[in-house]
Formats: sequence, C-alpha cells, structure tokens
Amino acid sequence: MPALTTPSLSSRQAQVSFARLVGIVAICCSVFVALAAPAGYFWLSYSAEQREGRIAARLHAAFVTQVIAQSQGDWRTEMTGLIDADLSPRELPEQRTLTDMAGVQLSASGVPVAWPVLTSRAELIGREGKVGEVVVHRSLRPVLLRTAAVGGVGMMLGLVIFLSLRVLRRRALERTTLAVRREEAMAREQIQHSLRVVFGHAIDGIVMITDKGNVVSANPAAEKLLGVTTSQLLGRPLAMCLVPVGENDRNALSAVGQFEARAMRPDGTSLDVDVTINEAGAGTETKHIAMLRDVTERKRQEARLVRLANYDTLTGLPNRSQFMHNLRQAMGRAQRHEQAMALMFLDLDRFKVVNDSLGHHVGDKLLQRVASLLATALRQNDSLALRDCSTEVYRLGGDEFTVVLEDLGTGESAAKVATRLITMLERPLMIDGNVLYVSTSIGIALFEPGDTTDVESLVKQADMAMYRAKEVARGSMHFFSAELGAKAKARQEIEFGLRGALEAGQFSLHYQPKADLTSGRVIGVEALLRWNLPGQPTIGPDRFVPVLEEIGLIVPVGLWVLREACRQVAEWNRIGSQALSVAVNISSRQFHQPELADQIRAALQAAGLEPQLLEIELTESMLVEDSEAVLRILRGVTALGVRVAIDDFGTGHSSLSYLKRFNIDTLKIDRSFVRDTPGDSEDSAIAIAVIALGHGLNLRVVAEGVETHEQAAFLRENGCDDIQGYLLSKPMPAADLSDWLARHPRGLQLGRRLPAEPALGHS
Ligand code: C2E
Ligand code: CA
Ligand code: CA
Repeated sequence: MPALTTPSLSSRQAQVSFARLVGIVAICCSVFVALAAPAGYFWLSYSAEQREGRIAARLHAAFVTQVIAQSQGDWRTEMTGLIDADLSPRELPEQRTLTDMAGVQLSASGVPVAWPVLTSRAELIGREGKVGEVVVHRSLRPVLLRTAAVGGVGMMLGLVIFLSLRVLRRRALERTTLAVRREEAMAREQIQHSLRVVFGHAIDGIVMITDKGNVVSANPAAEKLLGVTTSQLLGRPLAMCLVPVGENDRNALSAVGQFEARAMRPDGTSLDVDVTINEAGAGTETKHIAMLRDVTERKRQEARLVRLANYDTLTGLPNRSQFMHNLRQAMGRAQRHEQAMALMFLDLDRFKVVNDSLGHHVGDKLLQRVASLLATALRQNDSLALRDCSTEVYRLGGDEFTVVLEDLGTGESAAKVATRLITMLERPLMIDGNVLYVSTSIGIALFEPGDTTDVESLVKQADMAMYRAKEVARGSMHFFSAELGAKAKARQEIEFGLRGALEAGQFSLHYQPKADLTSGRVIGVEALLRWNLPGQPTIGPDRFVPVLEEIGLIVPVGLWVLREACRQVAEWNRIGSQALSVAVNISSRQFHQPELADQIRAALQAAGLEPQLLEIELTESMLVEDSEAVLRILRGVTALGVRVAIDDFGTGHSSLSYLKRFNIDTLKIDRSFVRDTPGDSEDSAIAIAVIALGHGLNLRVVAEGVETHEQAAFLRENGCDDIQGYLLSKPMPAADLSDWLARHPRGLQLGRRLPAEPALGHS
C-alpha cells in the first residue's frame, strides 16, 4: 500500500508563520506611517516655531536695548511703539510684550493669539544689567492644523500599506491552504486507491452491508467464498447465503461482533466461515463491513486432531482416552437412571501368533476386521436381544477391545452379548488369503446403581475377569467377582514383595537331577528358582516368575540364577568325580536382551565351568518369531559352545520349522504328555512321535515329570535318552543334592520297580 502523504508539516508551518509575520509587519507599518508622519511633522514645525519665536524675541530685545542705551532719562517712557517694529523672521500673528524687572508691562503689540500659545523670552540689558524682558507669544494652532492634515494623510497612507500587506498575507495563506487541500486530496485519492486494491485483492471476503443487513458491495474474494456474483448479492440480505452457527442467529449479521457461520453456496456446497463485523464510517449507506474468512481447512484440521486424539487410526473406533471419558459418563448415568451397566474387556486369543507369523500387515487387517465385526454386531442390538441397551465399542490398543453396555436389565444380558461376540469371533476369518481362527476371551465387570466402584477400578475388574477367562479357557467369558479381586490383591502383594527380594537375598536355587535312561547315571541337574520369605513356606516359581517377567525383574534375577547355577555345578564337579551339566531356564524377556551371550560367557568364566556343561532351556514361543534378532542371539549363545534345549516341547506352537532353522541340542517332552503314559494311547503316541522327531533331527530327547518306573520303562523302550522327574527326585537345595548324589554314586536303576525312595523332595 503506498504511503499516504500530506503536505510536509514544516513547510506548512513556515507558510503560516510567514503569513503571520506579514500581518505583524502590516500592522507595524501602517501604525508607523499613521503616527510617525504627523508626529514628525509636528515636531519639526514646533521646533521651527520655537526657534523663530526666540529669534523674534532676541531681535526685539536687541532693538529695545539699543534704545535703552541711547536714552538719557527713564528709558521706560520711551518704550511705547518700540515693540511694534516688525522684526520677526516670518510674518505670523504674534503678541509681543515688554516688561520691567518688576514684571510691569511697559508696552504690548498685536492681539492675543489663539490657543495653544508658544511663549519665547529675551532679556533686556541696561547699564546696570538686566532691566526687563521681551516676551513673544505665538499661536501653535496653524502647526496643529497642518499636523492634523499630515496625520490624516499618514493615516490614509498607513491604511493603504496595511490593506496591501493584508492582501499579501491572505494570498500567502490562501496559497498554503490550497496546497494543503491539494495534498489532502491526493492523500485521500491514494487511500482510496489503496482501499480499492485491498478490497479487490484481499484473501478474505469483504462485504459492505446496510443497517438492515443488505449487501451494498462485495469484493471478489467474497464472491468466490459465497459462490455468487456481486450483482446477485446487491440489495439482498447477506443472511441469504451466510448462516451463523452455534448460539448466534441471523441478527448477528447486523451487529458488530465476531462469530462462526456457514456459507451456503448455490451449488449445494458449504464452507465454514469466520465472520467479523465492524462499524463502517458514518454518513454512507453502508452501516457495517463484514469480513469473511474461509476456515474450512482449519476446521477440518481441528476435526482431524480431535479424531486423532479420540479415535484409533487403525480401526476408526474411539480410543482409550475416549473410552475412559465415556465410561465415566456412563457410570454417572447408571447412578442417575438407576440402571445397571456392564464393561466388557475383549482380548483376541491368537492375535500375537498371527501378527508374529504372518506379519503386521495381516495383523492390522485382522484388527480392522474384528473392529468392524464388533461394531456391526453391537449396532444391530436387536440381534443381540438388547432392544433398550445402548452399546459402544472401543479399541484400547493392541488386540484389546472394550464394550460398554448401558441400561442393562441384568448381568444375564451382558452374558448374552458376550456369548454372541465369542461365537461370532470363533468363525474363521479370511484375510489376504489366510484362513485365521482368532477367538476372543471376554471379561465382564458389572456396575449397579449404588456401587462405589470408580472408573479405574471397574476397568481393572473387567481386565482381571478377562485374564481369568483366558486362564480358564480361550474363547470363554468370565464375570468379575470379589474372589477375583482378592487374587489380584494377592498378585499385587507378590509384586510388592518381589521388589527388593534379590537384594535381600531371598532367592535360592533347587536342583533336580536328570539321568541317562539306559545307564541310570545322573548326567546333570536343572536349576529351579525358589523365593524364601522369612517365616513363610518356600514359594514356587509358578507363582512369582510370571510377575517377575511382567515387571521386568526377571532380567536381573535370571542373571543371578545363571551365575549361581554355574558356580554351584562347577563346585560339585571340582569335588566329585563326574562332570554334571546344568540346565537353566531362560525367560523370554531375558532371551531378548542382546547382551545375553556376553552374560553367559561371563557367568561361565566366573564359575570356571565348561560351556558344554551349560544348557539353556527356551520355550517354543521364543523361537517362532523368525526374526534376525532371535537368530543373532541364538548364534551368539551356541557359538560359546553352550547347549540349547526346548522346554515343555509340544505345548507351545504347531509350527516346527524353527527346529530346522536354529541350532538346537535337546527336546524336553512336556510332562503333560508323560503323565498318562503308557496307559493313555494318545499321550503315548505323542511321546513316541516327539522322540522320533527329536532323533530324526539328531537331537537328544529328555522326558520331564517322570514319576513311575512304568513311565521310565515305556520311555526307554521307545528310545528316549534321558529322564527327569520325581522318580529320580524332587528338586532340592544344593546341600541336599550333594547328599543325594553321594547316596547314588552309580545312579539309579530305572524302568523297573524298586523299593520306594525315602521322600527327599522339597518342591
Ligand atoms: P519347568 O522348567 O518345566 O520345570 C520343571 C517343573 O516341573 C519344576 O517346577 C519341577 O518341580 C516340576 N517337576 C519335576 N519333576 C516332576 C514330576 O515328576 N512331577 C511333577 N508333577 N512335577 C515335576 P517348579 O520348580 O515349580 O518350576 C516351575 C516352572 O518355573 C519351571 O518349569 C520353569 O518354567 C519356571 N522356572 C523355574 N526356575 C526358573 C528360573 O530360574 N528362571 C525362569 N525363567 N523360570 C524358572
Ligand atoms: Ca525347565
Ligand atoms: Ca518343562
């Protein structure tokens, strides 16, 4: 926008002061001319009169003095007529008198002169000095009259000067004013030009409206925004195409203010608009100026942010934050309306397997499919026999979904819904050419009016119930109960107790011997962790290892197990004659540490144990992920010479391909397959198959949980290499195992009935 210039202030000021100066000069000149001319003239004339009066008096005095000098008698008597002699330099009416020293008038001439009178005196000198004086009176009236005339002319002249200077001043002022006006006009023109440019090219729409809200003019941006031409708008109400939203009504368009509106365009589209209405200047038809800004994109972004904050991007379902917010409100409503509500926690049973084996891509699609199935099923309330119940499904993350059921008649309705959902998700899903069987386990927490449960606790209850459902059977449901709460509390206590247990030296290791089936000789032991709380019975790992894993403490504790087991076995090997091996259980969390191999090497070195005497026991699930990381870790471990066993074989995963990929030494048949051998034909068949599989892959096969000689005999007949179980001994503390080993220097005779061993177990 060009600079809006006005006449420069200094030049204007100079012109004004010049005009003022001219005014002052005019006054001074005219006053000077009007006053100085008569005054000067008067002064000159007066001085001349005075001089002449004095001369006249002196001449007469000289004349009279001469007479006195010649006179013999009283000179006074000779005075008459003397004074009549015309001795004055100019002929002017004057009165002359002659007086003696006493002031007696001796002679006089002429008539008294008119006022004002100018008196001049001269001394008379006789033989004896001053004897009298001559007094001449002259009238100043002629001088005054002439002075008046001169004054008149001076005044005229002054007036002429004053007037002409005034004209000069006015001219100067007029010129200044004219220049100012011209410059102001130019500035106005510039402003108007700038405004036209702004109006024409502004990105925001600008619409001039009357006090009734009718359009006076609109700029191109407004035309574009409203989708109409100015001619279509002129004289029409702006409200015709601009509808205020929110609390504002049409009247908002005829008052100063700011609000949001929707521009309804003739082509059926609409835009979000921010409207700002301001007063226009007075004196025109235009009352208000409306500025319109298209905020559609901003609104869209805002909406997107709201969606991102409240909705899950993968499935489009409301997310955890929305869930917590809505659940709180639903619980409030349940209290107010005195209606029960239920919270369901859903967790897919085989999602991790799908995700790990088929990739995230399939996993994501599976989650989307499940989300849409759940949403559709719950929308069709009728089909769920829940006509009056309102439902909403959320995704909390991973494969966890929640459903909030409001206005629920009874818990039975919730059970009905859960059953429907379970049945629905039991059906196979076809995703990317894969037939996937994902079932879901559902935990349900009921909330009834009067309950004091808070939001967080209700969520925890449903979560607990879901875990219980998973424990009981996949694809089942479980209602939260007080008993479940107590279990959770106990779990909490365990967690609390475990923190600091390592530092407090509360962990110890029990050892269970493992024997070669053919020779009956003890070839090694398995180290099993125990937690000893003061004044309490020893706690088995099934109760606390999962908690250790969950809270991450399994890593330091596992490292301790590794070091302690290596140290203990190395010590036995130094004392005893045979070289026992030791098996150490490694948990998934521990296994995924990149520094595992380094830790093992350090433990072996510190203990002075041969690497081939250490066997780490892994579970199948740790190896199904065909990740580079697993391969790297496993390579690091086997490169040390440490052996690798697959624990609980047969329970984990159906895919056996990992057996080929990884360098594995031993298979441990899970004790669930051993328990019912040889009686149960299916279990026996599985055991035989595992042995065959192991041998086929050149692996050593160990049977776990062998309790009877029948089992041992059956396993030996089928070629199993080693056994571990109560038949040999229960796990026991290191000192007890030393005694036990001393009592069985040549091992045991396995696979036939022996006199019962005295109970040694310390499980
Ligand atoms: P696991 O590796 O399968 O260990 C064998 C479990 O079976 C032991 O239970 C042992 O006492 C039990 N057992 C042995 N022989 C028989 C038998 O003849 N009959 C029956 N019914 N049971 C028998 P434990 O010591 O309670 O250990 C349970 C599980 O805890 C272990 O199963 C292992 O998975 C885990 N665990 C033990 N110690 C550690 C450890 O240091 N680190 C890790 N990560 N896990 C451990
Ligand atoms: Ca084990
Ligand atoms: Ca096992």
